[in-house]
Amino acid sequence: MRDISQEVAARKSRAEFVGSVSHEVKAPLNTIGLYAQMISEHHEDAAFLVEAQNTIEQEVERMTRLIHNLLSMTQIEMGTFELDPQRTQLTEMVQDCINMLDHGANKERINVLASDKLPPVQVDKELLRIAVSNLLTNAFKYSPADTPTIVQINESPEAITIGVTDQGLGISTADQERIFDKFYRSESHAQSDTPGHGLGLSIAREIVNLHHGSLTVISALSEGTTFTIELWKNTGVAAHAI
Ligand code: ADP
Repeated sequence: MRDISQEVAARKSRAEFVGSVSHEVKAPLNTIGLYAQMISEHHEDAAFLVEAQNTIEQEVERMTRLIHNLLSMTQIEMGTFELDPQRTQLTEMVQDCINMLDHGANKERINVLASDKLPPVQVDKELLRIAVSNLLTNAFKYSPADTPTIVQINESPEAITIGVTDQGLGISTADQERIFDKFYRSESHAQSDTPGHGLGLSIAREIVNLHHGSLTVISALSEGTTFTIELWKNTGVAAHAI
């Protein structure tokens, strides 16, 4: 006799996973297909062509982000992801993330506060960039356009930390337990127009875990949210700070 409840649960979550991914890929493809058809009928309507171009670009960006996240997550879970630690200045890396945000994002909203003389760290720059970008994208998505987003990079005796704070919708205590699960979205967001796949935080946490760090959240509904990445100095890659 063996307890198969875990295997059954794993099979179920795999099926749910495939179902959700298929849906997430089908939806933008449908939109792109629809616009492709309509372009041939409305090719003389300049305003329509601009709308079509913007929509197609947005949908392609959305799919690209999904595929990027899925590929990294699959590699991490299969254990085939080889970390490529490089000497990194976190302030520069955060600036890269900001530069690479979707066009259309109002980057003026972001204030970066970094303590002086931060030591460089040995991290997988490409990977950590995905984690920080996911936090920044969320801060933008889930807060009003006229509120600031603050990125703080600090050093304590134990850790080097990157905090991303928004003054947005906040996350309920119950949801704070679940937002790191794959495909989980707060009910209000899942039902709203805010685009998303519920993957950003789970991949961000996996990436931070690979660096033996931690990703935590502090949030209050209607006030805002802070996500903090902690790279512990005494463990893993952050220990090799030069
Ligand atoms: P996505 O944003 O694509 O839905 P994530 O995994 O990045 O997926 O986030 C999961 C859920 O956590 C979001 O759907 C949202 O409900 C909640 N969330 C994440 N970041 C924030 C934030 N900064 N403010 C409020 N809610 C957030």
